[in-house]
Amino acid sequence: MQTHFSLAQLADPHVAEAEKILRTCVHCGFCTATCPTYVLLGDELDSPRGRIYLIKDMLENDRPATEQEVKHIDRCLSCLSCMTTCPSGVNYMHLVDQARVHIEKTYVRPPRDRLMRAMLARVLPYPDRFRLALMGAMVGKPFAPLLAKIPGLKPLAAMLRLSPGMPNGRAPHEAPGTFPAQGQRRARVALLRGCAQPVLRPEIDDAAIRLLTRLGVEVVRVAGEGCCGALVHHMGREEEAHAFARNNVDAWTREMDGPGLDAILVTTSGCGTPIKDYGHMLRLDPAYKDKAARVSAITRDISEFLFGLGLPKAPAPLGRKVAYHSACSLQHGQKVKGPPVELLRAVGFEVAEPFDPHLCCGSAGTYNMLQSEIADQLKAKKVGTLEALSPDIIAAGNIGCMAQIGSGTGVPVAHTVELLDWAMGGPAPAGFSGTAKAA
Ligand code: SF4
Ligand code: SF4
Repeated sequence: MQTHFSLAQLADPHVAEAEKILRTCVHCGFCTATCPTYVLLGDELDSPRGRIYLIKDMLENDRPATEQEVKHIDRCLSCLSCMTTCPSGVNYMHLVDQARVHIEKTYVRPPRDRLMRAMLARVLPYPDRFRLALMGAMVGKPFAPLLAKIPGLKPLAAMLRLSPGMPNGRAPHEAPGTFPAQGQRRARVALLRGCAQPVLRPEIDDAAIRLLTRLGVEVVRVAGEGCCGALVHHMGREEEAHAFARNNVDAWTREMDGPGLDAILVTTSGCGTPIKDYGHMLRLDPAYKDKAARVSAITRDISEFLFGLGLPKAPAPLGRKVAYHSACSLQHGQKVKGPPVELLRAVGFEVAEPFDPHLCCGSAGTYNMLQSEIADQLKAKKVGTLEALSPDIIAAGNIGCMAQIGSGTGVPVAHTVELLDWAMGGPAPAGFSGTAKAA
């Protein structure tokens, strides 16, 4: 794609990066076929190629974002399916990130939208605030259908509809500390606590810790770490996202330089993608760029790490069918597709994938609240293709997808590590009882 940035514009490293990305796009349009919003809405401006044109125009003319640009870029899920499809290697992730920062800096959203976004940014990244908000949501939930009819309050209605009821209290494993390996130690890892997951489903990290320690891995909850910054990053709130990233880089660097870490493990793939990108995110910060790159280099999704470690093979099939939903952040953001399926098969589950595995379920961080109508349609499609497999259970590696899909189906939904742990003697995930072997 030809670009026309001035030399003065290109002196800004952000613009120079955007120009480089834009120039790799050859307008072929292959990406449109795998873009969930284009498939659903059929509008070129809701396709990757259309958004790339909008971003180019906005950045090249160095002008405030328009209402139309904001509308179509807000509708992007950041699922990164387009990056998997693109034959030209366009880094859409870094381009849309820049567009979101530009929008945040130059566009004045309507007051209710601003309020909603500020509230999400102030609440979701902090587990204790999130717990309080969920308690409040229990009171407001019956009013969700009413609020959904008021223009501008749809995000609030969606938030109430998605709230799961009474939140979990603090789990013992949330506090800083060490879980020693059983037998000979094979590795020492930090396990990211995260922000929403411990509130919604602390059993995931219970399972991860049991599984890892049983396999000879020492697990550390590092003092001082917090939210990965993904939620605010996707809203274009760059300063806040960078502050979260720096905080975590500091916490993990202390641990790496002290007792040492072989890996930083993440059980929420939506957090893994930005942490693996910290090196890029902080590349212009001389005090942090090297430390951040070091952190990114040892960050792994839990399934990647377990796959490298190897699990004992099941002596016989378990007689349980799992429909595996591949989270976008895992398959497109981190290119981790095979390991979760192979691990589940290795421990004895029968695993099937839906016919549209590349398409997003509509969760996408705060998307299912801010763009609830599109998110609901994507959820209905995804639930339909997963249920068509007639599974006993649905598995995913991201709490956002689990909550989104779980709100649309009666089939139990579990995290991949909960199922692996169950097959290896751990307790049954929610919705099941007894052993992993079918009766
Ligand atoms: S990130 Fe997803 S929704 Fe956004 S343009 Fe790419 S494929 Fe479409
Ligand atoms: S597939 Fe890649 S090169 Fe082709 S239009 Fe989409 S982003 Fe551009």
